[in-house]
Amino acid sequence: MYLTLHGVGKSFKNNTDEPVRVLENIDFDIKKGQFVSIVGPSGCGKSTLLYLISGLEKVTEGEIQVAGKKVTGPNPNRIVVFQEDGLFPWATVLDNVTYGLLLKKKPKQEAKEKAIEMLKTVHLSKYIDAYPHQLSGGMKQRVSIARALVMEPDILLMDEPFAALDEQTRMTLHNELIDIWKKTKVTILFVTHNIREAVTLSEKVIVMSTRPGKLKNTFTINKSED
Ligand code: ADP
Ligand code: ADP
Repeated sequence: MYLTLHGVGKSFKNNTDEPVRVLENIDFDIKKGQFVSIVGPSGCGKSTLLYLISGLEKVTEGEIQVAGKKVTGPNPNRIVVFQEDGLFPWATVLDNVTYGLLLKKKPKQEAKEKAIEMLKTVHLSKYIDAYPHQLSGGMKQRVSIARALVMEPDILLMDEPFAALDEQTRMTLHNELIDIWKKTKVTILFVTHNIREAVTLSEKVIVMSTRPGKLKNTFTINKSED
């Protein structure tokens, strides 16, 4: 198993109040290359779960392992794509995608070539010199996906990345994401409150109940090969 959660729980301590219990006894695992969705109502702890897997937050109980290693902190092998694109407004599309590779000390030319190739994959070759404010919402999310994928993460964690988009753009990006997944074979964990989105996109759907979030049900989608 590639990603394993075992007995994971999370409470937040505020200074005055009792600790707020957000997640309770979460157990599941994902195979390498799988596309899995987690669906549940707003506030049930889906984002928190992604933060724990990414290492941005620490578990209160239990353990998370990715590729056989215990998650202890943030790591560029586990990248979160958020609803808000989080692009640098002062940098071009190309520079936004190249940035992480340069941080990883990749040679400049190699980083640039990889970024250009990835932007081709998300159909943005024509916009590499544009700035984020010149792009539509859908295009900005494509840049975010390219920026994440160019790092060749072990797992791509997606937190309602298309929730702010109109229905038509969202459908286009669903198809593109499935194509990208097939092409790159990246492992994807996709969080959404929209059951239709979860079923459309993934091979396996994990359902969470209301707070404190617990797993309720898991089902596999049988899709005919196209
Ligand atoms: P979802 O993504 O399913 O909408 P979240 O993971 O964002 O849910 O939040 C679940 C609950 O956890 C929220 O209702 C919120 O009250 C609580 N929560 C999240 N982050 C914190 C925090 N840093 N401190 C205290 N409570 C938090
Ligand atoms: P939205 O997110 O606004 O619904 P899309 O991301 O689906 O839009 O973009 C639709 C198309 O509109 C794009 O493929 C692109 O050709 C064009 N487009 C959108 N914004 C711009 C822009 N700022 N400059 C040039 N073309 C654009």
